[in-house]
Amino acid sequence: MKIAVVGSGYVGLVSGACFANLGNEVISVDIDKSKIASLKKGIPPIYEPGLEELIRHNMKRKTLSFTTDLRSAVRRSDVIFIAVGTPPRPNGEADLSYVEDVALTIAKEINRYKLIVEKSTVPVQTGERIAQTLRRAAKKGADFDVASNPEFLREGSAVRDFRNPDRVILGVESKRAEKILCELYKPLKAPIVVTDLKSAEIIKHASNSFLATKISFMNAISRICDATNADVEQVAQGIGLDKRIGKDFLNAGIGFGGFCFPKDLAAFIRISEKLGYDFELLKAVERINEGQKAVFLKKVEEAIWNIPSKVIGVLGLSFKPNTDDMRYAPSVDIIAALQEQGARIKAFDPHAMPKAKALLKNVQFCKDSYAVCKGSDCLLILTEWDEFKELDLARVKKLLRQPVIVDGRNIYDPKRVRDMGFKYVSMGRP
Ligand code: NAD
Repeated sequence: MKIAVVGSGYVGLVSGACFANLGNEVISVDIDKSKIASLKKGIPPIYEPGLEELIRHNMKRKTLSFTTDLRSAVRRSDVIFIAVGTPPRPNGEADLSYVEDVALTIAKEINRYKLIVEKSTVPVQTGERIAQTLRRAAKKGADFDVASNPEFLREGSAVRDFRNPDRVILGVESKRAEKILCELYKPLKAPIVVTDLKSAEIIKHASNSFLATKISFMNAISRICDATNADVEQVAQGIGLDKRIGKDFLNAGIGFGGFCFPKDLAAFIRISEKLGYDFELLKAVERINEGQKAVFLKKVEEAIWNIPSKVIGVLGLSFKPNTDDMRYAPSVDIIAALQEQGARIKAFDPHAMPKAKALLKNVQFCKDSYAVCKGSDCLLILTEWDEFKELDLARVKKLLRQPVIVDGRNIYDPKRVRDMGFKYVSMGRP
């Protein structure tokens, strides 16, 4: 199939490269000239395992190309995926102006039947709005369908997730659209769920909100564990073996971040409000998540007593491991709060430092974890990268000025670390 993917970010780039690898002819579009210039050289602007190889392989066999020219990409394609950003407005509502811009350009270039597919995460009824916009702006009789195909890939394992989805959701309003999308996804051999367009839009917001709820639920439980010296990991194991609950997403920590959960939760709360429903449950999920950073900061203060003038070493800056994404990373607020109290911050992250440097001021970025430890009064774990789990803790202890670890991601075994002579504090574990 001839496909245009509009937006070459985490979702658009990965989807485009994977569709190309399945043998389709894909044009990946972005308005960001520097992104496209770097992609044309085969260099992805984001870190995602396996992505660079996939891009280069498909550029070579001419199934994948890059452009800033959306108009010509639309004319040359039959299926157009919209994968642009849908960032939050100050009130939490999704900003759909990028989606509208793309729809307006598509409308003007419809030269034969086009299937326009929302891949970005959007509030329910956005598909209807896209269709109205196209009808208004396109030539009379323009032939098109609008469909929804929300994306569930996770940053850090995006390529693998795209190729092995738990399910593919196709929200369609016509048999023609259903047939095209089923055909496109057939090689993935994943369960396909065909719904109406609005249900598909709700499925994406509901999935992310449900997952965020699981995390906040466990963080709330971790506070009860902290208050009683119980162990949140034992609780998670005990409840997770119940198939109705499931083992995943039961880790306590400093809360969720990233470009999806916080913004999608806020957008779902706002669209619910607009539709006349006060989604109190999700508001509590947001509050608990925000509160985890304060819980963690209190633990830091209790562990090292006075924050002013202390040197605090931070391991992990990205919002989760295996990505360089710093958007809504809890590390940003935690570091700012410590700096405000007068702490000096040293930090290391295996992949997120270039992006972190643009966001975090007055931080001493180090070449590795051990350089962070050298002369620090305590060590904070903010992202659970595998390489932090494998640190030589005897060396860490020698380098730290005081052997204190406050672990916001529960990556170490408390007994083992304490037996080595550390003061060790984690989340919801005695
Ligand atoms: P991103 O910011 O990485 O990428 C969006 C891209 O769209 C940017 O490169 C931007 O320059 C480009 N863009 C904006 N306006 C454009 C226009 N008019 N024409 C062409 N390009 C344009 O964002 P992302 O993380 O890929 O997310 C995209 C959408 O997918 C969002 O709605 C997000 O919620 C959703 N989503 C993201 C993830 C994730 O893990 N990141 C997962 C599932 C769904």
